[in-house]
Amino acid sequence: MLYDYLIVGSGFFGSVFAYEVGKLGKSCLVIEKRDHVGGNVFTENLNGINVHKYGAHIFHTNDKEVWDYLNQFAEFNRYTNSPVAIYKDELYNLPFNMNTFYKMWGCKTPEEAKKIIEKQRNNENVQNPKNLEEQAINLVGRDIYAKLVKGYTEKQWGKKCSELPSFIIKRLPVRFTYDNNYFNDKYQGIPIGGYTQIIEKLLKNVKVKLNTNFFTDREKWENIANKIVYTGMIDKYYGYCYGKLEYRSLKFESEIKNIENFQGNAVINYTENKIPYTRIIEHKHFENTKTNKTIITKEYPIKYKENEEPYYPINDDKNSKIYKKYEKLAKNEENIIFGGRLAKYKYYDMWETIKEALKTAKNEIN
Ligand code: FAD
Repeated sequence: MLYDYLIVGSGFFGSVFAYEVGKLGKSCLVIEKRDHVGGNVFTENLNGINVHKYGAHIFHTNDKEVWDYLNQFAEFNRYTNSPVAIYKDELYNLPFNMNTFYKMWGCKTPEEAKKIIEKQRNNENVQNPKNLEEQAINLVGRDIYAKLVKGYTEKQWGKKCSELPSFIIKRLPVRFTYDNNYFNDKYQGIPIGGYTQIIEKLLKNVKVKLNTNFFTDREKWENIANKIVYTGMIDKYYGYCYGKLEYRSLKFESEIKNIENFQGNAVINYTENKIPYTRIIEHKHFENTKTNKTIITKEYPIKYKENEEPYYPINDDKNSKIYKKYEKLAKNEENIIFGGRLAKYKYYDMWETIKEALKTAKNEIN
């Protein structure tokens, strides 16, 4: 055995793990099937703008340990996520707050807004929501559902809200203050200079092989280290023996615009069903970058097929049952650690991925 650990995947999970065990003298080899490190947090500098190649990534957490940890590797700015939604020719602030309600109904006080939402909920009289449509109406009333939830959600999941399970929307944040800050977390920001520098620092003393897929030479990789840290798809690892887990994928379409400022905000959601993309990202606003040109990316949700990137797990009953079977196999492995969003078949925010990697590395060391 040449290494203590073979790490499959150079996203946040694999990179944080490698850094932590490396500090204690353990040797790691990272293999990565893409032609760059970083997984989905990869940012690429194009025309002086840090482009979030796999969708907008805004760091936010309440966890001081993770926040302090990450700040060792980059300085963060004070970016606050305040997305805007466009429905037909109307423009609304998100998350749903007094600015949204004022625009929607002209009401100025929380009392007035609460009364309207309550009235709309009572009109529908939904007792036990059976699907996402009923659930959303029950939470925010008909108007907000129709203009700001329905089209966006149907594009996102490729199904009608009346056919989607209610559990997808457990809560819809409603705020009765004039506050457009999307997240409630204590710490929020974008690393100045992008995310890739953080990953590069984490992997500075680690051997990394890019363009290397674990499955093209599985036997070789299984015999190169004492333990494997696997951050790829768990169903693929087990040869889909219990069936394939389902995902939702995304297509990104980027263009350079010959103007300084295209939309005046980093994130604009398009909530109308007729427009095929869910949002447009204008990357320069994440870091307030001063350039003559700008880069925008349209984000289209698409059906997941093999060879597409698996972005969002579909954690419904059917897939959860399949995952549980794979999880059972994984728990019985002695020399393989499964970590990160694909191996755990779970949507993790960045801070959760980092937290899990820190915990896993600590367990290894103790
Ligand atoms: P990944 O980043 O996916 O890394 C896994 C790596 O393993 C990849 O590089 C992959 O190429 C590699 N790999 C897989 N299989 C193999 C194989 N067989 N051989 C070799 N290499 C392999 N989080 C936030 O906190 N804020 C946000 O705003 C936010 N926005 C997001 C937007 C989108 C569109 C998506 C999809 C996610 C977003 N996230 C956000 C979540 C964030 O991306 C994840 O928390 C984080 O990237 C997970 O890291 P990971 O290491 O688990 O997985």
